[in-house]
Amino acid sequence: MRLYDTCTRRKQELPPPPGPIRMYFCGPTVYTRAHIGNARPFVIGMWLRNWLRERGYDVTLVHNITDINDKIYDAAPGASAELAERATAWYLEDTRDLGLGMPDELPKASDFVPQIVHFIAELIDRGYAYAVDGDVYFRVARYPEYGRLSGQRLDQVEEQEPNPLKEDPRDFALWKANKPGEDTWWDAPWGRGRPGWHIECSVMAEELLGPVFEIHGGGLDLVFPHHENEIAQSRALGHEFAEIWTHNGMLQFTGEKMSKSIGNVTTIREALDEWGRETALVFFLTAHWSKPIDYSDETLAAAEARAEGFRDVFRGPSEPARDGEWERLAAALEDDFNTPDALAIMHSWRDHDLLRRALDVFGLASLAESEEAPADVRELAERRQAAREGGDFEEADRLRVEIEASGWEARDAADGFQLVPKR
Ligand SMILES: [Zn+2]
Repeated sequence: MRLYDTCTRRKQELPPPPGPIRMYFCGPTVYTRAHIGNARPFVIGMWLRNWLRERGYDVTLVHNITDINDKIYDAAPGASAELAERATAWYLEDTRDLGLGMPDELPKASDFVPQIVHFIAELIDRGYAYAVDGDVYFRVARYPEYGRLSGQRLDQVEEQEPNPLKEDPRDFALWKANKPGEDTWWDAPWGRGRPGWHIECSVMAEELLGPVFEIHGGGLDLVFPHHENEIAQSRALGHEFAEIWTHNGMLQFTGEKMSKSIGNVTTIREALDEWGRETALVFFLTAHWSKPIDYSDETLAAAEARAEGFRDVFRGPSEPARDGEWERLAAALEDDFNTPDALAIMHSWRDHDLLRRALDVFGLASLAESEEAPADVRELAERRQAAREGGDFEEADRLRVEIEASGWEARDAADGFQLVPKR
């Protein structure tokens, strides 16, 4: 199994099964209902875990909740803790409704503050960090590898978090002193305050997976500064940290209709309400995880049609696949988890068992469940069939409308009719 690694800019081989494969995928900052784009790293992490388990790996997936962050203080001055708690519940509810199960661990930054304080103290002791006016900053100049992940030269690194008291404009915050209006704080040797965003992830990843782990994932927008800073903090203490960095492409909105109707923000909840979880998951399958993906009425309608195509396979007879078909699917997934290729292969199958097994990897086994029409709808369909056979097309048409009003569609089939839920 190979995955594209942002750090070395090439595909890297995973160790052979059973691994272990320890994965940390950066999760959301909780201050609002999560954007559908936030679902992408979650979905990719869960699929990857499913596939690796299918291949005999021992996998652990950690997905964090950033519940201490400037954005939360800004969104709810004086009441950030309540907002973070509410938005965490929304995120868990929305991702659970994707029907993929949940990650093995969902740590919250607020549960790890003592460990974060300890980590920062060690960085200060070793000369990698310094306190100034209650803040603590990482000394970027002390870590010569800085900039490797994001491809920046150390002497040209962009300024982060401007503050004239810093030794160097490139230095980034590990701890921020408590400010008026911030309702949460913790005590530390250098003063009352709260952790910076980057150190939260270094600490949660290492606390739950150890100082070295196989895969670190997250959106492409996290490469700099978030992940660059995670690497610097952890490697400064001699921890190897992540071996492979997988960054998923961003979700884009280009469909005109979409931007006219609801602007550029669609939440996971809205996407689920409008399209349903099966269509949303098939949509994510259509693009390679490392590439951008376009969210529009057109791309979602196309995903819905693909989902319906799979349902149709299960409405027809099963046709055994040729030997080696499963390995053909495996080859696509083991080469950088190529889901568009896997999807094309799955669309060529009429073998019910094989297709159900593949769909199950992506949380889509429900597409294989046959939907039984209720008895009264079956009776209407039988009467319609009889009317047609008797040449009473007016009555047949009236019954068709009645069947549709019950939420079903009668399709012509070789042995009479087939009832399919109307979508
Ligand atoms: Zn993170």
